Amino acid sequence: MRSSVLLQGWGRSTGSRSAVLGPLTGAALRELLAHPPDGGVLARGAGCSYGDAAQNAGGVVLAPATVPEIRVDALGGTVRAAGSARFTEVLARTVPRGLLLPVLPGTGRLTVGGAVAADVHGKNQRTDGSLANWLESVELLDGTGQVRLLTPDQEEFRATVGGMGLTGVVLAATIRLIPITSTRLRVTSRRVADLDALLAELDGARSRYAVAWIDTTAGGRALGRGIVDLGDHLDGPQPDGGELAFAPARAVRAPRLPVGPFTPLTARAFNELWYRRAPRERTGTQGLPEFFHRLDAVREWNRALGPRGFLQYQFAVPDPAVGLLAEAIAALGRVDAAPFLGTVKRFGPAADCPLSFPLPGWSLAVDMPTAGRRLHDLLDLLDRRVAEAGGRVYLAKDARLGRTAFDAMYGPLDGWRAARARLDPGDTMRSDLGRRLGLCR
Ligand SMILES: Cc1cc2nc3c(=O)[nH]c(=O)nc-3n(C[C@H](O)[C@H](O)[C@H](O)COP(=O)(O)OP(=O)(O)OC[C@H]3O[C@@H](n4cnc5c(N)ncnc54)[C@H](O)[C@@H]3O)c2cc1C
Repeated sequence: MRSSVLLQGWGRSTGSRSAVLGPLTGAALRELLAHPPDGGVLARGAGCSYGDAAQNAGGVVLAPATVPEIRVDALGGTVRAAGSARFTEVLARTVPRGLLLPVLPGTGRLTVGGAVAADVHGKNQRTDGSLANWLESVELLDGTGQVRLLTPDQEEFRATVGGMGLTGVVLAATIRLIPITSTRLRVTSRRVADLDALLAELDGARSRYAVAWIDTTAGGRALGRGIVDLGDHLDGPQPDGGELAFAPARAVRAPRLPVGPFTPLTARAFNELWYRRAPRERTGTQGLPEFFHRLDAVREWNRALGPRGFLQYQFAVPDPAVGLLAEAIAALGRVDAAPFLGTVKRFGPAADCPLSFPLPGWSLAVDMPTAGRRLHDLLDLLDRRVAEAGGRVYLAKDARLGRTAFDAMYGPLDGWRAARARLDPGDTMRSDLGRRLGLCR
């Protein structure tokens, strides 16, 4: 055990100290949860959630909880992967069998446990839903130390998927895979001049994958300009006739800087450059890491953003509130927020899991340095606007949401709390995020 380790999320804007354990054998894990420490227990994955979801101040954090075992059932088209297995490790085993994980978030470094706990989504949420849609079962070590096999028909399954680690430790998950015959995708990138055009492109997209990078610093008539990427798997054999294989992008390490590089001025220049250097339209092919995990090409890019860290604000709103996207971008400009990265996705049907994030409508995610009071007041205001519109903020990205706004977005959560009480009657599973939002002691 390592005692008093400082743990932070990807954004490095908050941190807390915990005792860190793991990987443990099944028997040791059961023993730990049957006789839990005073500060409670939490499983941590790769620490890719941006805020305090994978922290448990003063308690125990399992990092990793288990060993990363992976078993592919090529005939059945499924993989059973341990909670601590990273997506890149799973892909390295499934892709050579012509099978792909159906949901690929913007990093491949995350773990299966973290993916289940956040019910992650990819560029295909509209067409394929979030991970919940693809889970056959979840093996959970509940808060009492009992192993349970959870299936989608159970309330306990729905409380665990999206449940941010507060119902137990995900030991393993069985995920249905999608068949591929090639590791390459046909990708069309289109530069669009404003938000209306960008939303229209995403709305009209017929491809399996669709996402837009958006210049969150442009104002006036250029507000919301960006680049839309549409992708589909290539049919037929590998273009080069080679074997199917997956290797993560070769990454260069980002420099650690004493101060954050992004100010309103540099964020604007960076976004301008990105926009200008994109061709008006280009169709070509891309490999899996290039299309799905572009940001992974720079290792630890989160450390290059200065010692104070950064925030991502990601919200989803139903169609009638699409105007909130423009409102948020314009307001961030007024408080000099220096947003350096923005993405927009069109969302389809929601999963039947109370804490899952996606809902039918639109999602905007903006990365920006942590800044002073003005930015935080604005985000508080946006929280209220998002909640009033029937939308929500993504907990896996969140480091600051208040309890009132959270309740308005996700509440009343009676079913979730009842299921958690059955899985964890002693309130053993705890996190900083859970305490902040009133989900645990
Ligand atoms: C560059 C980047 C791009 C991203 N893009 C996307 C995206 O496109 N779509 C998307 O949905 N998300 C995206 N994310 C967010 C990320 O997918 C989620 O935060 C995910 O939960 C991270 O998984 P992790 O393994 O790092 O878990 P951690 O961050 O370590 O933990 C996240 C939560 O999972 C819980 N948890 C972890 N392991 C277990 C376990 N074994 N049992 C129970 N609970 C567990 C933790 O307690 C915590 O509550 C992105 C993150 C980054 C850094």
